[in-house]
Amino acid sequence: METITRRNFFGKLTKASASVAAFPALSAFGFASRPNAPASPILLSQNENAYGPSETVLAVMREASSAGNRYPAGECDPLLGTLAALHRIRPEQVVLGCGSSEILRIAAELYLGPGTSLVQASPTCPRLSEFAQMAGAAVINVPLNKMYEHDLEAMLSRTRASLGLVYICNPNNPTGTLTPRKDIETFISKLPPATMVLIDEAYHHFVSATGAYASFLDSPVNDSRVLVARTFSKIYGLAGMRIGYVVAAPEVARRLSARRLTFGVSAVSARAAASALDDSAYVLMAARRNANDRQEFMNQANARMTRIIDSHTNFVMLNPGRPVDEVFKHLQSHNIHVAPPIPEMSKYLRVSLGTPVEMQQFWRVLDLMPGHNMAM
Ligand code: PLP
Repeated sequence: METITRRNFFGKLTKASASVAAFPALSAFGFASRPNAPASPILLSQNENAYGPSETVLAVMREASSAGNRYPAGECDPLLGTLAALHRIRPEQVVLGCGSSEILRIAAELYLGPGTSLVQASPTCPRLSEFAQMAGAAVINVPLNKMYEHDLEAMLSRTRASLGLVYICNPNNPTGTLTPRKDIETFISKLPPATMVLIDEAYHHFVSATGAYASFLDSPVNDSRVLVARTFSKIYGLAGMRIGYVVAAPEVARRLSARRLTFGVSAVSARAAASALDDSAYVLMAARRNANDRQEFMNQANARMTRIIDSHTNFVMLNPGRPVDEVFKHLQSHNIHVAPPIPEMSKYLRVSLGTPVEMQQFWRVLDLMPGHNMAM
């Protein structure tokens, strides 16, 4: 098995395939001499793909980086074509961004401003609300229901004609939970006519087979108010490449596109993303591997009688049964980084799934906490 633990892609690129071919042995991290503090940080905080992109994609990135002295020149066009074919839409319906973060920023700029509001679940991914606040809009947070689904009835009751945008992150970050597709469709049909809906499918590929979920790209609704965002940062293992996209009605896409940064998507990113889409075998394998890693996380949590929230993503909410600030600090002091605690879910910590070696260290270090339930 291979892993990529360093975040600097170009560092890896220059070391060519030798650097990715070798799985770092446990001792390479210095565990033998310093058993409680891995020398390299273990990054379980940003929901990245801990294994990195496929070898094919890495080779394309190496090759593309040799033209790094030039501005991008048409590299995005084949990618737009591939995405259009994949989603059975026209290329002009796709807008690329510097990560889906840029898409969220552009949507906030376009649809939000003073006198408008963003309605979103709480907790959810905070990016769009940060951009909404910058745009001068009000942010209306509607708590998730008891099943950690979007409370769509309550969200609907908070909408009004002057509303700008509704955000639905499905599966949701940080809970990893799904909101049923049919409920979202009913919700959209009841919204005021001018209200736009941004559906964030960043974690789409990690959803286990269930009738409750269907992507709004795979099974679109015929509604020009719906924008669907995806990212290459998760299953494709390209978080460092900063590339994502949104699919929208042609007129909406044109307006979003007008606000993009010129050359905001690099040639290396565009070529890496196109290559990642072509490598469908890798995506399938990565989804299966993630399902196994998630199951193992569940097993480890169960063995410690530690509660988790069932996840459809590459991260899990864990209730460590003790003050989360303490657990967070304890892990940090051992060079293990999970997401910082959030006030809306004060009993849980969000843990991104790492490689088996990383997760072994995570559980080992958690077990070091005084009074923690040791496994078996
Ligand atoms: N949307 C969700 C739900 C996320 O969790 C993230 C990042 O973690 C993003 C968007 C932003 O992703 P990126 O800008 O890397 O594409």
